[in-house]
Amino acid sequence: MRKVSRGSKPPPAGLSVRTRGSTELERVRAHMAQVLPASVNRKAFPFAVYKADSVKKRLEELFHGKCAYCESLYASQAPVDVEHYRPKGRVEGDALHPGYWWLAADWANLLPSCLDCNRRRKQSVPVVSTGLTVMQQAMQTGKQDAFPVAGMRAGRETDDVLAEGALLLDPTRDDPEDHLAFWLGDDRASGVVYPLPKLGAPPVAPDLPLADADKVAVAVDAEARAVSVRGAVSIQVYGLNRLRLVQERARLLTHLRFLEGVFLEVGEVSRNIASLNAAAPQPQLADATDRLDRLQVRILDQMQSLAEPDAPHSSVARAYLRDFRDRVASQP
Ligand SMILES: [Zn+2]
Repeated sequence: MRKVSRGSKPPPAGLSVRTRGSTELERVRAHMAQVLPASVNRKAFPFAVYKADSVKKRLEELFHGKCAYCESLYASQAPVDVEHYRPKGRVEGDALHPGYWWLAADWANLLPSCLDCNRRRKQSVPVVSTGLTVMQQAMQTGKQDAFPVAGMRAGRETDDVLAEGALLLDPTRDDPEDHLAFWLGDDRASGVVYPLPKLGAPPVAPDLPLADADKVAVAVDAEARAVSVRGAVSIQVYGLNRLRLVQERARLLTHLRFLEGVFLEVGEVSRNIASLNAAAPQPQLADATDRLDRLQVRILDQMQSLAEPDAPHSSVARAYLRDFRDRVASQP
């Protein structure tokens, strides 16, 4: 997950389009205000404007065709799920809540999501055993209608949703780097994400959240271990450590590690030739070091491009590059 700014443009026009003189928000307000006999269930409102092409297009521009939660590229594979950060029609675990219907067409509540982050599915996620080995365990992940909060849930349009204490990260409001970190491992190829410790040094092993579909249990466990509660709950609800995703990040890390190896090797050859040239100057040697130095810059550019906002899983590449710079800087 990577922080994205929605920018200063007005919301996409499709959200405020009028049908027979009224906006969708006005129609859903009237729908929810209808007084019904106790024996009659209120029909689900047919929300539609959030699926407008102008909304999909703007989300695609902002997120570069990537899922807001896991940074997988969705644009090339499947049509995007326009996802309601606060669910529009119902809230998991609260049968009486009507859903955050007043935010169904609110631009600030819409995110692009891949199917795996948005829909509830059985996934394989890592757990750390007492021997500090990482093992896989099956559990249900995917956001669906989940929206756990730490405080009082907003139930009406006039309630302040920002006071709820949302336990899920929103990359347009939160900086995920304040809550999540990547475990690169000794071989720098692990790609597992873990909740950041609230204080102190990084852990000696990935401090993974409790592998439990019960969000309250995950939050309580994270609190007890003094790691980011919102990070831990987000990892489990969005399934940010599901096996395929971890494998994709690991592939990216392997690629970065290969590029790093070539970068270092080219640097060493360049230095060796430079010292030969210093001992007995020759134009060919000077030319060779120039070319090798330029090649090194190109390799570095390539590594950096994998951490740009439009690159899939760019946040793990960023973590790798920071680690790489630290290692280079600490060399004698
Ligand atoms: Zn996703």
